[in-house]
Amino acid sequence: MNGEQLPDRGHLAAQSRRHFLRTAGAGAAILATGGRAEEGITARVRNPLLRTPLALLIDDSCPVINLGWHWIQQRHRWRQRLHPGTEASGWERFHDKLGSMERTVPADFAREWGEWCGEQGIRGKFSMVPFPAGAGRIDQSFPGHPAGELREWLRVTREIIQPNFDITPEILSHTGVVDLKTWQLTDAWEQYEWVDPPVDQLTDYLTASLQLLKNAGIACDGITSPGAFGKKKEEAYARAALEAAVQVTGNLRPFYFLWVRDKEDPDTPLWHVDKNRGRAIASVIPGTGDWFGGSGYDPSEPDRFIAEDLEHGRVPELLRKELPTILLGHWPCFSANGAPGFKTLKTVKRRLDALDPDRTHTLWVKTSEIGRYEMAKKLSEITIAPTTDPAASSLTLVTKFPTANFTLTLNRTAKRFQFGSTDLRQVNSIRDFRAGTFLTDGPTTHVAFDLPEGITNLLATWTG
Ligand SMILES: [Zn+2]
Repeated sequence: MNGEQLPDRGHLAAQSRRHFLRTAGAGAAILATGGRAEEGITARVRNPLLRTPLALLIDDSCPVINLGWHWIQQRHRWRQRLHPGTEASGWERFHDKLGSMERTVPADFAREWGEWCGEQGIRGKFSMVPFPAGAGRIDQSFPGHPAGELREWLRVTREIIQPNFDITPEILSHTGVVDLKTWQLTDAWEQYEWVDPPVDQLTDYLTASLQLLKNAGIACDGITSPGAFGKKKEEAYARAALEAAVQVTGNLRPFYFLWVRDKEDPDTPLWHVDKNRGRAIASVIPGTGDWFGGSGYDPSEPDRFIAEDLEHGRVPELLRKELPTILLGHWPCFSANGAPGFKTLKTVKRRLDALDPDRTHTLWVKTSEIGRYEMAKKLSEITIAPTTDPAASSLTLVTKFPTANFTLTLNRTAKRFQFGSTDLRQVNSIRDFRAGTFLTDGPTTHVAFDLPEGITNLLATWTG
């Protein structure tokens, strides 16, 4: 923000605009101010369409097999072999249930789940572990399982799940680290030993995980960490994830999921920002624990997300703060052991619908949309300047970080809003507020539009 005095209107046409524009600067573009100094016109970037983003993150999903069964079996064998006599922890605590646990998840079930989520308008992220537990490569085959199952799983993923969920690898095997020369699992675990991964191997490892999915016809929007993979080397991990995404899918603005914040306020940190090339990677952070039931044997507790009174629980708390609200779940509890997580999801969704019956407060989005919106919010330059018409102001946005549903609130009442040469439609209710419209609200005006890459000009004509 510069503190220059603005000249009076009479001088405007004759002078270069940049002398009297006020900009939001390079930092958080939460506020842009402009117009004559005494007018103090401000623009604040809001949540998309003034609604709080909601998303569902599903971890540990993979084709054909139940990763839960394989993970527990491999971890149990690993401990008996290398650390006999030590205590089982995590999901391995359920190793005595291996005999009755489902070893596979039918593609038909994934279709049913994906169709239900689609009908409900649920969006988010769905992992596809590309070489799950070393049982088979998603771009080749799962030995011992009918070939048609993998084919059908891939069809369901592409046609039914991917329209509503970003697909990410959850690195490679989600059990042992894979030796990329032999495609054998090693004794190091992705989520344990590789909490602190060897930096020089990271890009190749992440590239391999994205490439397997690409070979199988699935373009990924980001990367999911199995457990704490990469936590002790986040800077290098984020860099490798961005490099791998650019290399394999050409995605310059991907996201990764590594952290969970079920008590403090979650945010959306951006890493390795290159404003000139329009490159960055977002760390997308759920604000809940997995209270759907994890392995299928952990407690499944809808009230911890949202209680029956619609007031208690973590989700209402996050929505009240208007923070992106990302719910975390693990696929085994949605698909195995009687699917307790699926029942909980149905309860949670029913309550969320009751909380926001006309969808004026919340907006289900894919996880990638949360990352891209944060980039547009933080990395776009917004300037407001007077025009030769004393009742009008021009807004200029310059960005390499496009996003859908970009929403600003200005502290003046507009009677007309033009986006380039197009008139935006004025609406009278937030119910009808969408990209390409504006809505006045007492002394303020909300305006929403899809923000393209490059320069965007808007012209606001004020009442009075
Ligand atoms: Zn996982």
